[in-house]
Amino acid sequence: MSRVYNFSAGPAVLPEEVLKEVAAEMLDYNGSGMSVMEMSHRSKVFEEILNTAEQDFRDLLKIPDNYKVLFLSGGAHHQFAAVPMNLMKNGVADYIITGQWAKKAFAEAQKYGTANKIASSEDQTFSYIPDCSDLPVSENADYVYICENNTIYGTKFKTLPNTKGKELVADVSSCFLSEPMDVTKYGMFYGGVQKNIGPAGMVIAVIREDLIRDDVMPCTPTIMKYKTQADANSLYNTPNCYCIYVCGKVFKWLKNMGGLEVMKQRNEEKAAILYDYLDNSKMFRGTVRKEDRSLMNVPFVTGDKDLDAKFVKEATAAGLVNLKGHRTVGGMRASIYNAMPKEGVEALVAFMKKFEEENA
Ligand code: PMP
Repeated sequence: MSRVYNFSAGPAVLPEEVLKEVAAEMLDYNGSGMSVMEMSHRSKVFEEILNTAEQDFRDLLKIPDNYKVLFLSGGAHHQFAAVPMNLMKNGVADYIITGQWAKKAFAEAQKYGTANKIASSEDQTFSYIPDCSDLPVSENADYVYICENNTIYGTKFKTLPNTKGKELVADVSSCFLSEPMDVTKYGMFYGGVQKNIGPAGMVIAVIREDLIRDDVMPCTPTIMKYKTQADANSLYNTPNCYCIYVCGKVFKWLKNMGGLEVMKQRNEEKAAILYDYLDNSKMFRGTVRKEDRSLMNVPFVTGDKDLDAKFVKEATAAGLVNLKGHRTVGGMRASIYNAMPKEGVEALVAFMKKFEEENA
């Protein structure tokens, strides 16, 4: 067996220890005589898996008791619709557009009410985070929406926007559990788990209880109503059981690593190795304003499309895979989530140095 260093933006690298554990438990989970894949979601064994996963997740993020944690089937795209359907009480919401995912969420919200774009960084290909200290927040906005880490462009909100008292809703898909969060600053946040946490096909949403209402938009499908899932402990229908199980393993792994403070430190160290090299290279350069750089997604270019393509091809042959930038931006992107070891980033930088020498 030979594993590569996988820099995919998602689905993405998972901790090897977790993969080994789930492989070992594939045929017989904890003496149950079956795989978690084969298990009823109403069984005692699965109930334990779900409750433990939720508790560990709560512990990691220090989630206060007045916030619900929901394990929701589907991807972040489902939430682009579910958020306005559930949270637009006045029918108004403000969106800060920092990339394709915020833009898509904004477009979806426009179907359900008045969605206002109150800031954008599209003028410079989303290479920075706009100043959000004094935005024209709508008086009757039900929430202000952000995509906290922009997977495609490699930017991250280092300071949350001043929402002028309105609820903050954030898509945290690509920075989920990469560092501590002050949960009380958000009305809701959610993320697809397929980047930092587990396999694809599920979102974890954290919502303050008073925002979970019965009188949502009448068009809201029962299954997309947060109250439905909150009342049923995420078991209204058959959830993505296997995904919850793997996520639970990752939560234990994160706890064993020392929790999110330690992860933040590790992620800062890893990202610094790559950014320091980019800042000194004569061939490669990062594409994001320095103060807005993501710790998770690092886009970079040579400035020459052919050279970019050559780099990606030769890196792949060297076991450094999925470095091609998003199809909408080109160049390269290294996603260095929690489970990417420091050795992976060091191997990438060593390869970049060699490539730079050979192609100078
Ligand atoms: N939001 C962000 C920040 C993302 O990175 C992605 C996927 N790359 C999405 C939303 C869309 O997620 P999904 O495919 O799970 O719907």
